[in-house]
Amino acid sequence: MGAGHVGGPTMAVIALKCKSIKINVVDIDPSKINAWNSENLDDLPVFEPDLKNIIAKVRNRNLFFSQNIDSAIREADMIFISVNTPIKTKGEGAGFASDLKWVESSARKIGIEAKGHTIVVEKSTLPVRTAKTIKTILENSVKESKINNITKSFSVLSNPEFLSEGNAINDLLNPDRVLIGGDNDMAINCLEQIYLEWVSKHKIIKTNLWSSELSKLSANALLAQRVSSINSISEICEATGADIKEVSLAIGSDKRIGHKFLDAGPGFGGSCFKKDILNLVYLCRYYGMDSVANYWEQVIKMNEWQQKRILKIILDKLFGTVAGKNIAILGFAFKANTNDTRESPAINLTNKLLEEGAIVSIHDPKVEKKKIVEDLKNYSEKNLDNSKNRDSTWSFTRDVFEAIENCDAIIILTEWPEYANLNWHDCVALMRSPKTIFDTRSILNEKQLKDLDVNYWRIGYGLSEKI
Ligand code: NAD
Repeated sequence: MGAGHVGGPTMAVIALKCKSIKINVVDIDPSKINAWNSENLDDLPVFEPDLKNIIAKVRNRNLFFSQNIDSAIREADMIFISVNTPIKTKGEGAGFASDLKWVESSARKIGIEAKGHTIVVEKSTLPVRTAKTIKTILENSVKESKINNITKSFSVLSNPEFLSEGNAINDLLNPDRVLIGGDNDMAINCLEQIYLEWVSKHKIIKTNLWSSELSKLSANALLAQRVSSINSISEICEATGADIKEVSLAIGSDKRIGHKFLDAGPGFGGSCFKKDILNLVYLCRYYGMDSVANYWEQVIKMNEWQQKRILKIILDKLFGTVAGKNIAILGFAFKANTNDTRESPAINLTNKLLEEGAIVSIHDPKVEKKKIVEDLKNYSEKNLDNSKNRDSTWSFTRDVFEAIENCDAIIILTEWPEYANLNWHDCVALMRSPKTIFDTRSILNEKQLKDLDVNYWRIGYGLSEKI
């Protein structure tokens, strides 16, 4: 249940590896199901490297995308709940706790429709002890069905997904570990058998339900903490003349630390990190652990600070104002190799630039324009008659050179490899003087820019000395 960034790719890989299993992926959003069934594989709702090749092999073989939720539940021996669990926007816990209404309604639906014994697997990231809620809902439906002489029973497992967007297929094919939490050996064994088709036994970790749920939240909290830590060091680098690339290399060479997640940038995005830390903070406060809650909350505050300070630097370097200036944004996705913009630093930064009166031209190789329209809903597209504020408009293009043409500044926000590989001589020639490039991912080759007529600022270093 749930044909999103987790449900779609995860089930595609299971279908690929387990030919004898029939998988129905269902969703309440018909447009999503239609997109998964698109003839043109470039129109799938999720972009991940290699995903379309797998879909081409398994779709309508043993993987089916459909809106028939009820019949899919009735048919199923095992159901993965992969629905969204965003942060609550109102009510108790607003701004921190997960909104579990989609999980709860999935459980209720399963309770009503399921037949025989069904193993229900939590794939979504859930607050600790959510399995208890799911069990209670399902147990109630068992009681009701007995009154009507229908026999049904359930086991509940936690099997959080650790895939990283942009590398989802590789992560699913070669997971570092598979985590199965539960208290029913038969159910655990059934789920383990699926993974054993391609994952070695020693990578399968079995725990109790609560350890499994908490491990997922904690893993994301630790990853986000690493990003905030290196970003905090990037600010110190800019003030002192140290270079974050050199510092990251030196730190990461220590085997105990390692190189991954040590690239400074405009802050973490994506649907998970912020949400999962907020959830952890909520849990800590619930149990009265204010010091622990404050510790984790600081990771988010640091992330917000990184974005604020980048905006301030951009304004400072552009003589205190961007009003009426043409700014090219390269990259709108929250990271490379995905079309996902959820919590992307680009949203906040572009909105702020528009608020300051900039004219923004956006390029991204994969993000759909309709997503950008939603993300910048307070500002209108250039050349639209209904422009709310004609001074602050934006446009979107798939042509990098069109985005750059006549701009005063370029801001690189996503580490798409193609930006590093552009002919920067030609790009700079298209800009309007004085020209500035803000490289918030530190991906450009400084040597290539050295002799060009452009100011170059990069994260964790600052402005190049020649300028
Ligand atoms: P998503 O928003 O991309 O997809 C969720 C889908 O569930 C949506 O298409 C929605 O329409 C559907 N849905 C909601 N209620 C439903 C119902 N009752 N029946 C059927 N479908 C329903 O979300 P996602 O990114 O796939 O994340 C899903 C879960 O996995 C979240 O809990 C998330 O925290 C977790 N997770 C996400 C990632 C990631 O990288 N995106 C990684 C690991 C874990």
